[in-house]
Amino acid sequence: MPTKKAPGRPIRTLVPATLEGMEVALKALANRRANRPEQIDNSRLYAGSDMYYYCISCGHESDVLPECHVFRPKKLCRECQALKDLGWLV
Ligand SMILES: [Zn+2]
Repeated sequence: MPTKKAPGRPIRTLVPATLEGMEVALKALANRRANRPEQIDNSRLYAGSDMYYYCISCGHESDVLPECHVFRPKKLCRECQALKDLGWLV
């Protein structure tokens, strides 16, 4: 018995770009969290050295500032900040 092909347009599953982007972005976040870099202990650096700050979400570098900085260091890295801005940070 021959199979009957359905007429009309082919069936396509529509995935919103934002949803696809979110999945990829959250996967990347999980990957960053699983691969935390070794963090530099600022107290062990020579006087006058730059200060290193790390993302509170994923542990990767968020900011490097001169020792006598006046601005508050960023708490989130660029990637996590972008996620937070979209309300995707979990
Ligand atoms: Zn981060």
